[in-house]
Amino acid sequence: MKVYFVGAGPGDPELITVKGRRLLEEADVVIYAGSLVNPEILKYARPEARLYNSASLTLEEVLAIIREAVSEGKRVVRLHTGDPSLYGAIQEQMDALESLGIPYEIVPGVSSFAAAAAAVKREFTLPGVSQTVILTRRTGRTPVPAGENLPDLSRHRASLCLFLSSRDLEAATAELALGYGNETPAAVVYKASWPEERVIYGTLGNIAAKSREAGIERTALLLVGDFLSGPYRRSCLYNPAFSHGYRKGEKSGG
Ligand code: SAH
Repeated sequence: MKVYFVGAGPGDPELITVKGRRLLEEADVVIYAGSLVNPEILKYARPEARLYNSASLTLEEVLAIIREAVSEGKRVVRLHTGDPSLYGAIQEQMDALESLGIPYEIVPGVSSFAAAAAAVKREFTLPGVSQTVILTRRTGRTPVPAGENLPDLSRHRASLCLFLSSRDLEAATAELALGYGNETPAAVVYKASWPEERVIYGTLGNIAAKSREAGIERTALLLVGDFLSGPYRRSCLYNPAFSHGYRKGEKSGG
């Protein structure tokens, strides 16, 4: 019996994948990251399923639950917020299952950075503006390797999403302003896709103060970049003059 690591999505219970929902409906044991997963999603689980909130558990305790359940032939879902590949601490769980000989599979999810772009109704990759997205965090108790610090990353002026840093916004925005400049558009998206979703708009120079005034402390992403407003070039893909494999342009060449 496989253990499934399932991405729960950013919050809206309809933003879990069809496969993730099916596995949750079939599960005997669900271990969910209670600090972030919307409890509404747990309603997909059977009433008799055993639910464990991993917020108060250690890796060893999570593994012990998985091991026991698997040995009893139970179906286990390990539910992580957003997509499990980002700040999910799943590698250590997968490696432990590997060494225990327990098979597992990962079911991707909609990450909060995608839900945040949806909330602000903007596209990260605009021609002539940015063709790169940086997903990062500010250094905290988990150190960020040298070369990935915010002043260095800010010099690319790419579209950027800052995770896990809503309590550190003053410092983070000051560091980012070194490369982007204070006037670059910024937004804080709180609980993207939840009923209580909020978006605060500003610039790198004022977004930290605005966010603090709004009382936002957790479950938020900082978005930074010119993709948030202003001019861009229209796409080549849907331009009548441009030919590609699926469509011939008005003028050949393109
Ligand atoms: N794997 C998750 C990220 C987990 S780290 C994903 O793919 O989204 C937890 C951080 O993600 C939070 O500190 C916050 O920065 C961000 N986050 C998670 N859900 C969010 C949401 N609904 N809205 C805004 N930020 C969110």
